[in-house]
Amino acid sequence: MLCVGIFLGLVLESWSLPVQNSSLVHQTRLRSKREYSEQYVDPEEMNAMDRILRANQLSRGFPLREGDILSSGSRSAITCLGDSCRWPKSVDGFVYVPYIMSPLYDDMDRITIETGMLDISSATCVKFVPRTHQANFISIQSRSGCWSYLGMTGGSQTVSLQSPGCMWSGVASHEIMHALGFVHEQSRSDRDHYVSILWENIIENQRHNFRKYETNNLNTAYDYSSVMHYGRYAFSEDGGPTIIPKPDPYIPIGQRDGPSPLDIHKINLLYNCGGFV
Ligand SMILES: [Zn+2]
Repeated sequence: MLCVGIFLGLVLESWSLPVQNSSLVHQTRLRSKREYSEQYVDPEEMNAMDRILRANQLSRGFPLREGDILSSGSRSAITCLGDSCRWPKSVDGFVYVPYIMSPLYDDMDRITIETGMLDISSATCVKFVPRTHQANFISIQSRSGCWSYLGMTGGSQTVSLQSPGCMWSGVASHEIMHALGFVHEQSRSDRDHYVSILWENIIENQRHNFRKYETNNLNTAYDYSSVMHYGRYAFSEDGGPTIIPKPDPYIPIGQRDGPSPLDIHKINLLYNCGGFV
């Protein structure tokens, strides 16, 4: 079975209050010339991916695909095949993902990241547990930018959540969802039925970020509100939109609070969460 891309999800908004490092509140209100979405999108309207692309503008030298996915040396494709990239299921039915977190984060950073994990674990069978002895685990570090590998790579795998640029719980959920095996929503194989890509508006050397892939869509609907969806102006050359929903171009795309209900559903399907589905 293909353990391919899918997407991320959110929890019921009533109990999934987004956490944002307070030091960012003022910062995000400052408008400055930016290469990506920020110059075209009101900071108050930026979704998780807009924020990620903004943080990653300064991340030079990383082989990032689609703006925030790091390719492992052994996996050149964006998708991962078979069960090799899926975290294993325990005999008790849960999927335990061990993690370590940099001691350099402050309390608010930790709360932000833990909220991002909780938004996933509280509604699925995927549980994030502090690593004790496990061989395979995620290492959450404040490197340069917000990025992750796709699926379980084996051994220690970094999820970078730079402080303060990536300190939003929705961004943490987004990157952790990559580590669970999900790709961006607009990368899915059937996306052309739901969105138009305006290639002429995309920065010329960034058009590769809009490829679509043979994804396992788990028989789920296309999710405009996925926390894994690019923003409307992602990689815009001159301020024109790069992704437009169809047939209704005004449907909001992407969001920032955390996994959407459908994102959560997809996690439960991919990991055969049984009673959670
Ligand atoms: Zn991403």
